[in-house]
Amino acid sequence: MIKKYLLAPGPTPVPPEVLLAMAQPVIHHRTPQFEAVVAEVRDGLRQLFQTQQDVLVLASSGTGAMEAAVTNLTSPGDRVLVVNGGKFGERWGKIAAAYGLAVTEIKVEWGCAVDPDVVARALDEHPETRLVLAQGSETSTTVRHPVDRLAAVTRGRKALLVVDGITAVGVFDLPMDKLGIDVLITGSQKALMLPPGLACIALSERAWRAADESTTPRYYFDLPRERASQAKDTTAWTPAISLIAGLRTALDLMLTERLPAVYARHELLARATRAGVQALGLRLVAPDDPSPAATGVYLPDGVPGKIVGYLRDEIGVTFAGGQDALKGKIVRLAHLGYADAFDVIQGLAAFEMGLARFGHPVKFGAGVGAAQAVLMDAFPEPSR
Ligand SMILES: *Cc1c(COP(=O)(O)O)cnc(C)c1O
Repeated sequence: MIKKYLLAPGPTPVPPEVLLAMAQPVIHHRTPQFEAVVAEVRDGLRQLFQTQQDVLVLASSGTGAMEAAVTNLTSPGDRVLVVNGGKFGERWGKIAAAYGLAVTEIKVEWGCAVDPDVVARALDEHPETRLVLAQGSETSTTVRHPVDRLAAVTRGRKALLVVDGITAVGVFDLPMDKLGIDVLITGSQKALMLPPGLACIALSERAWRAADESTTPRYYFDLPRERASQAKDTTAWTPAISLIAGLRTALDLMLTERLPAVYARHELLARATRAGVQALGLRLVAPDDPSPAATGVYLPDGVPGKIVGYLRDEIGVTFAGGQDALKGKIVRLAHLGYADAFDVIQGLAAFEMGLARFGHPVKFGAGVGAAQAVLMDAFPEPSR
């Protein structure tokens, strides 16, 4: 038997409480019973997003909400600015291009965060820009972008700041209203500890005004229509009923732990993972601005990318490899959502053994030990 451990940056493991909530018989959605679930979820999501606004729940993966942001806030021919520092930044550009928008692209070196001054200069050059499209955490490179400083750039300008927070919301503190984020998005299969299939999106007052003026064609992802329905604790279309039942439980778990503790947990696991891989002599993909969601690490010379498949199939631990230019060169060890100290320990132990199997000289326990030293912070002194 090989027990399976899922340590990829999405999908992430689902807690047993959430699995049980989703295993309940499906109830009809046009009922007071389901409306009560939606009401609770709406309240929980407002707390998670740290906003007074409605957080809409859509039946799609995260990309659906990204597309909804673009189609609901633009008109044909509008200009948008894309922060492209990886696969997900690139996706913003592809969505905008698919709808015929004019795109200013800021290419960011993979592994680095965007420089907000560069964004400010690009907006000064194109003051007509409608949207700045960025990631809070660029999962493909494991970089965290400076959303607070991007928000300071868009404040007082025409452009709205749209943040793909799919591996940021519920991972680190990203207070939507306080920072002045205009659109914040997340998806179910990352920090929300659910299977894939839900996206969540919130708009600021200023973004809702832009939605009123937008003329880009859309049908399924019609956010004003969704907002009107969800204000009545229902949804425009048939919702993903079981996932929303699971979301209620997942939000309850996060809010019971308390958000500051959730963020501190992610930060600690990230710090321990970085300490572990560095103790193995490996190089981080994002040394300067690492995301607390996942840690990207370069494989040592001579260790092929197929180690990821070996770890998954022979050792039982699923990490993610690299994409495009980083394909075959990196491993991404995730630590978001339903993750704790011993996920980090197991992941590093498996990684050490995999590296050894591929001929890399490993002092067993070196990475694990470095992580343990950091993880001690998670455990209180014993009472006397
Ligand atoms: C996972 C992820 C997405 C969404 O991808 P889907 O496959 O559509 O759920 C988008 N952005 C980031 C940063 C992600 O990590």
